[in-house]
Amino acid sequence: MADVLTYVLHFQGAFNKNSLGAVSEGAARAQEIGGQCHAVVVGGEDLSDELCSSLGAYGATRVFRAAGLEGLAQPVIDVMAKVIDDHGHSYALFGGGLLGFEIGAGLAARKQAGVTMEVTQVRAENGKLVAERPILQDSKVSVSRYRGDLGIIIGRINAFETVTRDGGSAEVVDVDVDYSPWSNQATMVARGEQRGADVDIEGADILVAGGRGLGKPEGFELVEQLAAAFGGNTAVAATRAVVDAGWYPYAAQIGQTGKTVSPKLYLAAGISGAIQHKVGMQSSENIIAINKDANAPIFEFSDLGVVGDLNKILPRLADAIKAKKGG
Ligand SMILES: Cc1cc2nc3c(=O)[nH]c(=O)nc-3n(C[C@H](O)[C@H](O)[C@H](O)COP(=O)(O)OP(=O)(O)OC[C@H]3O[C@@H](n4cnc5c(N)ncnc54)[C@H](O)[C@@H]3O)c2cc1C
Repeated sequence: MADVLTYVLHFQGAFNKNSLGAVSEGAARAQEIGGQCHAVVVGGEDLSDELCSSLGAYGATRVFRAAGLEGLAQPVIDVMAKVIDDHGHSYALFGGGLLGFEIGAGLAARKQAGVTMEVTQVRAENGKLVAERPILQDSKVSVSRYRGDLGIIIGRINAFETVTRDGGSAEVVDVDVDYSPWSNQATMVARGEQRGADVDIEGADILVAGGRGLGKPEGFELVEQLAAAFGGNTAVAATRAVVDAGWYPYAAQIGQTGKTVSPKLYLAAGISGAIQHKVGMQSSENIIAINKDANAPIFEFSDLGVVGDLNKILPRLADAIKAKKGG
């Protein structure tokens, strides 16, 4: 059988965008190898028939619904392993993100299957799926072909485009699962979602991004003031270094383990330009970098580089933009 199984995360009655990308990709690729795309959802009463069948709009033909803890990896691994055992899927495909990595790795261990992570492209070759992932700082592409009954593909976050189809409605099948003893040892204490301000960061025309060069969490005030001066469809973005340090929410992280963006203008303040950051913003139409180090790598792929102290430059820039707008 050439069917593809995906996992779809949900929160407050809405499916995760990255998961929907995985369903769309799974459906498109399954079709190319003569199979179908199915989805697994795990949760409680909030998983209504209507909500589950709506995954048909992204290409899923069947949704396996299991009652269990949502948002944790181990219960999902149990459900997916059972569904694969019962129905013989050839591939499990995930949209990436930390949960996708954890589930995919756990499923690979459980099923003794091959796994490829950080996949940016999946294609059909001789009736099988092949996964491609950039390696060596994205300078080369590694191609994974799978042996055995199951191949596991974990995408780079947001690598798979969400595509809707008219009139799609998936069959909903309830699954009874005997969870492993360890799967219910963890409990979800609280769930939340970090959202950017009011602006969709991936849809913003202008992104003002801050990095460790801001010096401290309060440094983001300068970035926010500049974003406010631009106004309109402008949002604030961040590097992983500052997100990991707790200076700014993960929702704003750009790069390999964050979001991929292509705004009209990407203004980077105090960002060195590490490859993992670059891959998330390099397709921006215009890149302006402000950095006190003239040798910072970000200048190698910026359209305009400003060498100097962001503490002096950002407020002046904000004032100049406000003055121009007012004038
Ligand atoms: C597997 C993996 C995945 C990763 N994923 C991501 C990702 O998704 N996104 C991401 O961003 N990173 C990611 N990283 C981390 C990445 O390698 C870098 O560590 C990170 O991007 C650096 O962030 P930064 O530019 O804010 O900090 P730094 O590299 O510390 O750069 C700070 C810069 O600020 C400049 N500066 C300092 N003071 C001032 C000042 N007063 N005025 C002007 N400039 C100043 C410095 O010259 C320096 O260039 C990942 C790493 C790994 C290993």
